[in-house]
Amino acid sequence: MIQTTQTPEKKEIRSLNLQEIADFLQQHGEKAFRAKQIYEWIWKKTVTDFNLMTNLSVKVRDLLSEYFVFQTLTPITSQRSTDGTIKTAFRLHDGHIIESVLIPSRSRTTVCVSSQVGCNLACAFCATGKLKMQRNLTAAEIFDQVAWVNKQSFAEYGHKLTNIVYMGMGEPLLNYDNVLQSIHYITSDEGLGMSPQRITVSTSGIAKQIMKLADDDIKFELAISLHTAINNVRSELMPINKTQNLGLLSEAITYFHKKTGKRITYEYLMLRGVNDGLADAKKLAKFSKIAPCKVNLIEFNDTDSQFKASDVEIMQKFADFLETKNMIVNIRRSKGKDIDAACGQLANKNLDTKE
Ligand code: SAH
Ligand code: SF4
Repeated sequence: MIQTTQTPEKKEIRSLNLQEIADFLQQHGEKAFRAKQIYEWIWKKTVTDFNLMTNLSVKVRDLLSEYFVFQTLTPITSQRSTDGTIKTAFRLHDGHIIESVLIPSRSRTTVCVSSQVGCNLACAFCATGKLKMQRNLTAAEIFDQVAWVNKQSFAEYGHKLTNIVYMGMGEPLLNYDNVLQSIHYITSDEGLGMSPQRITVSTSGIAKQIMKLADDDIKFELAISLHTAINNVRSELMPINKTQNLGLLSEAITYFHKKTGKRITYEYLMLRGVNDGLADAKKLAKFSKIAPCKVNLIEFNDTDSQFKASDVEIMQKFADFLETKNMIVNIRRSKGKDIDAACGQLANKNLDTKE
């Protein structure tokens, strides 16, 4: 990606929508239809340099450069795991640092993107939760992670991304508009044209925002980080549960399913002696009756916390019990642990969040 020097008074062109670009062109005596061409260069061809927009006259390119910039991500380090996972740290235009992860597997190639710099929700098991939230990412900054890692995937593994998960740093539903806007650019025909069914947004469970997703009739998949179906345990693990308790969450999930017809995915982190017993499995089975769902049992990744991962046999027993209740269950072994790239480990360990 080409870095353009930033002048404070110049605006990020990608904060404008199509109409706003057309208005700008008209105000400067240029043809409004050029906006569509510019829009395509930006979102479909992922070009970040006005000089590369070759179907525009030099005059129009100069006009754009006079008023606008691209606030691109600058990749600063990429670390490769023995399992093929690659974690990349990017510097944002204002110096903050975020991370994205490319996860190749036999059947798919996934990027895990960040939605915020840090996270304020302070879940007890999560390294990102220890970083104070600095700011929301813009739609363009989220989009850039996908576009960049897509090229990386092609260069490293010879094929493009098949899946996108919003499971990096941050709580996506607390950056609602930018997350949905980024998905629009990733999925629309004027953008990357990827299928929304290949995108999963993971949330700690903000009830109001889950209902808003239903009202907005989203086409992408929703994952909820449940981790336990017992209220007081959940509040210990995830402080957000003190205001968004399981009662509110289940109302939101019921509403979401009724409106969208979609199945929910529950993320369930297996923590030794905390949420991995038979009583916990029973509670989960009962909770999950509110809507069609599947459960991912996730291996805990060490994050210098008081928690330990559940034993493999315990995880299997837990899964077996849920299956006797006719639930769809997957056990998810983590990837990229040796480079701190696994879920919950993104924390810019060797880098300051602002340089
Ligand atoms: N904030 C959102 C999305 C980012 S976290 C959310 O909480 O859902 C993505 C996933 O990583 C969540 O399911 C989260 O619970 C999980 N996670 C956090 N810390 C983890 C850890 N140490 N090991 C495994 N998964 C973890
Ligand atoms: Fe934030 Fe998600 Fe980490 Fe919780 S698990 S602190 S919500 S990023």
